[in-house]
Amino acid sequence: MPDTPTQALAGLGVSQGRAAGPVVRMAGPPALPAPRPVTDPGAEAAAVGAALEAVAADLTRRAAAAEGEAAEILEALAMIADDPTLREDAEARARDGLDAAHALDAAFAQHRDALSALGGYLAERAADLDDLKHRAVAFTLGLPMPGLPAPGHPYVLVAEDLSPADTAGLGPDVLALVTERGGPTSHTAILARSRGLPAVVACRGITGVPGGTLVGVDGATGEVAVGLTGEEAELIRERDRAERARLAASQGPGRTADGHPVKLLLNIGSAADLVPDGEGVGLFRTEFLFLDRKQAPPFEEQVAAYAEVLGRAESVIIRTLDAGTDKPLPFLGLPDEPNPALGVRGLRVDRVLDGVLDTQLEAIAAAAKATGAQAWVMAPMVTTVEEAAAFARTARAKGIAKVGLMIEVPAAALRARALLREVDFLSIGTNDLAQYTFAADRQHPALADLLDPRQPALLELIAMCAQAGAEAGKPVGVCGEAAGDPALAPLLVGLGVTSLSMAPVCVPAVREALAGLTLEECRERARAARE
Ligand code: PEP
Ligand code: MG
Repeated sequence: MPDTPTQALAGLGVSQGRAAGPVVRMAGPPALPAPRPVTDPGAEAAAVGAALEAVAADLTRRAAAAEGEAAEILEALAMIADDPTLREDAEARARDGLDAAHALDAAFAQHRDALSALGGYLAERAADLDDLKHRAVAFTLGLPMPGLPAPGHPYVLVAEDLSPADTAGLGPDVLALVTERGGPTSHTAILARSRGLPAVVACRGITGVPGGTLVGVDGATGEVAVGLTGEEAELIRERDRAERARLAASQGPGRTADGHPVKLLLNIGSAADLVPDGEGVGLFRTEFLFLDRKQAPPFEEQVAAYAEVLGRAESVIIRTLDAGTDKPLPFLGLPDEPNPALGVRGLRVDRVLDGVLDTQLEAIAAAAKATGAQAWVMAPMVTTVEEAAAFARTARAKGIAKVGLMIEVPAAALRARALLREVDFLSIGTNDLAQYTFAADRQHPALADLLDPRQPALLELIAMCAQAGAEAGKPVGVCGEAAGDPALAPLLVGLGVTSLSMAPVCVPAVREALAGLTLEECRERARAARE
């Protein structure tokens, strides 16, 4: 960071690396102003047509720049914006005396109702009409169009908040992202980290920074320098390149300075996240494959997605779908809940929806058979020994070789010994374990200190699990974000965990941290932290 930035904003750094570039803000849906008296209905009708044309052109341009399913979705949206019936309806309303924004609003509402009434797949497209309406209305009001920007040059994305689906859809032009809200272990932060994108969340004031301002983003410290000169921005980029090159040179399995092995595994959301580093996959978050789906993913498609990973990595732990709270899966059609983090999520979905877990386990077993790989499968959000036993029974009946559980709920950590009588391994999800131990929403920017995994209460729970694993002779790893923090990784090893699973970009720094300490030094750190 430069010595004297015009202004420095502070947020929570949620990934490694630095970047510098111009700010492009992601606009939210425009607020519809009060109706305006109309003096020239013809001009309003022309404004309606121009808005729909601009929306269609923008979507067509994006479709051309996108690939696969994303391109198809954008093309379909462009066609709806181009629909002559919709246009004629909106123009007629403008000629009848509504201003352009209200004419568009009314026409889209009418088409939305018509689609909803048809039911089925078409009713599900009704939400797309809202998105198009927001874009067209924003255009007539002279506001930036909502949704992910596509300015045609590299930029730092600034937003109030981002959904996991938005983050998954970020193009290669995004140098870094900074959000006004969000927490350090939210899934948006996790996706940013997995892409190696410098990211800062809970950065107060960032949405007030004008578009085009040059900013420097430090994903580790959370510092955002605002108003850089071109030379200062270039200096940041050079330092980032040098640091990435230094870390990229590190190789080999995870070991402490005295040779104690600690497997360094990868957290991935799809085969696209795989890198040649690491000793296998410790957490395959399968729900990331289906975040924006409106229909259940077909069996064959699931088999293909799992087989792609199983065929390419040396060992893989697949987590069954973990839907709920900040990872909504629309295709499940789960009702809204007053306390979603405490509601039907993770393995609990199996209580209310028949077949989803069974189909997934069958697809994983089929993928393992097709690739000749051994799939290790674990369930998220397990709470009781009864749940664990039922999951293990089902998974084994479907042909899953190694069955495990995530430890994310304090009740499960307290019963680790009993859980290990039912399954082959445990993996500690420190993100949720912190959320539930400290009763602090993992997405809440004001509660980040409560979510800090260094707290003795959390360390005690991790130690209990590691101890139970050592007694049973079964592996107990950590796959929450704490595992990828080079300052925390030695401490976790000192507590006795056997593997650390992290975003691929974190592996070199964690390897370096472990190689600098003996096992006894790691244990000393753990003892000190627990006290
Ligand atoms: C966790 O909770 O620590 C975890 C790894 O699962 P997720 O972050 O996907 O909820
Ligand atoms: Mg979790």
